[in-house]
Amino acid sequence: MKAPDVAYVKPGSLPEAIDWLDRYDDAKLLAGGQSLITGLNMRLSSPSLLIDINGIDGLSSISEANGVIRIGALVRHAELGASPLIAQKLPLIAKAVPHIAHMAIRNRGTIGGSLALSDPATEHPACCLALGATIVATGKNGERRIPIEKYFKGLFETALEHNEVLTAIEIPVPAAGAKSGFSELVRRHGDYATVGLAVQGTQNNGKWTALRLAYFSVGDHAMLAEKAASVLLKGGSIEDAQAALGDDLSPPPDSENSSQTKMQFARVLLKRVMTSIEAA
Ligand SMILES: Cc1cc2nc3c(=O)[nH]c(=O)nc-3n(C[C@H](O)[C@H](O)[C@H](O)COP(=O)(O)OP(=O)(O)OC[C@H]3O[C@@H](n4cnc5c(N)ncnc54)[C@H](O)[C@@H]3O)c2cc1C
Repeated sequence: MKAPDVAYVKPGSLPEAIDWLDRYDDAKLLAGGQSLITGLNMRLSSPSLLIDINGIDGLSSISEANGVIRIGALVRHAELGASPLIAQKLPLIAKAVPHIAHMAIRNRGTIGGSLALSDPATEHPACCLALGATIVATGKNGERRIPIEKYFKGLFETALEHNEVLTAIEIPVPAAGAKSGFSELVRRHGDYATVGLAVQGTQNNGKWTALRLAYFSVGDHAMLAEKAASVLLKGGSIEDAQAALGDDLSPPPDSENSSQTKMQFARVLLKRVMTSIEAA
C-alpha cells in the first residue's frame, strides 16, 4: 500500500519545529521513520504534515556530565550499540540494542522515536525504566523534565504534549557495583518480543541494595515489577520473587499466547536474567 498525500517540512531549528507542531493539530514529527512511515504506508494514520527533525542540530549526541549520561533523541539504535561510553557506563542498553529489529532498522530508528511511540513490545522504554531515566521534552516554554515513572500513560500514550519534542533522555550513571541483565523471548530474532525483561541494580557483598525489574510486552507499556524486586531486596530467593510476580503483572493474551503462558514466560525470564547476573 502507498502512504496518503502528506505535506513535508524540514525545519532547521527546534523553535521552528515546535511552531509547526503548534500550527497543525495532526502534524507528526519524523525521526527515523521506521515506525511512522510503515504506519503511513499501511494507512494507519494520515497526518496533514510531516515535520522532519533530522535537520535540527544538537539532538544526535551522547555525552556525560555531572554523573548523568544525556542521549539526544536522534541517536540511532545502531549508534547506541556501537558507543564505547554506552558499553562502559550503561551496559544494559548495549545488551538490549542487538534485540531491536534488524540492522537496517537499527541504522535509522532513533531512541527518541522509540520512547515517543512507546510501543509496549519494545526494548528502550523498559531499559530507560530500569535505569531511572528522565525524559527531556521541549516545547514553547522551554525544557520540561519528566521522570520515567510518570512518562508512560497507556497504550502508545505518554506524558508528551502534542506541541513538545522529546529532545533527550538523561540517565544517571549507575553506582559502583552496578549490575544489569537483559533477556527477551521472541519467535525469531528481530521480531517484537513476546515478553522481555531489563534489570538494573546494585549489589554489595552479595546483597541487593537497589534493584529495578522492568518488563515489556506484558501490558500497555513498560512496567516495573516492584513486589518481585522487593522480595530480592529483602534477601528472598529467585523462586520467591517468581511467585511474587503474580502481584506485579497481569499480562493480556496476544494472538499466540494466553495470559497464563505470558506470565510463565515472565517468571522464566526472571530466573534466567537474575541467575546470569549473579553468576557474572
Ligand atoms: C519491521 C520492523 C520491526 C521492528 N522491530 C522493532 C523491535 O524489535 N524493537 C523496537 O524497539 N523497535 C522495533 N521497530 C521500530 C523501530 O525501532 C523504530 O525505529 C522505533 O519505533 C523508533 O522510531 P523512529 O526513530 O524510526 O521514529 P519515527 O518512526 O520517525 O516516529 C515514531 C513516532 O514517534 C514520534 N516521534 C519521533 N521522534 C520524536 C521526538 N523526538 N519527539 C516526539 N515525537 C517523536 C513520531 O511522530 C511518530 O509518531 C521495528 C520497526 C519495523 C519496521
